[in-house]
Amino acid sequence: MARKGKVVIDRELCKGCFLCIRACPVKVLEQDPEPNSTGSYPSKVAHAEKCIACGSCYEVCPDVCIEIYELTEAGV
Ligand code: SF4
Ligand code: SF4
Repeated sequence: MARKGKVVIDRELCKGCFLCIRACPVKVLEQDPEPNSTGSYPSKVAHAEKCIACGSCYEVCPDVCIEIYELTEAGV
């Protein structure tokens, strides 16, 4: 069974470089059309159900805005 993950982005810390969007192999992340309080357009989780907890987005983020949780088969 494929791994499932939950990814959380701190939209206030995010500066909108979009390295994470490019790094995600299954296109979970997209640009948020709403700016944060610093005027950056952050990444957002657009397709949460696709996340496989691979860690690529976390590894490329220069500002440590991303947390990843691996879900159990029960989805907890
Ligand atoms: S952990 Fe992997 S699959 Fe999930 S959002 Fe990040 S890059 Fe995409
Ligand atoms: S890599 Fe980090 S700073 Fe860059 S867009 Fe993604 S979450 Fe934001």
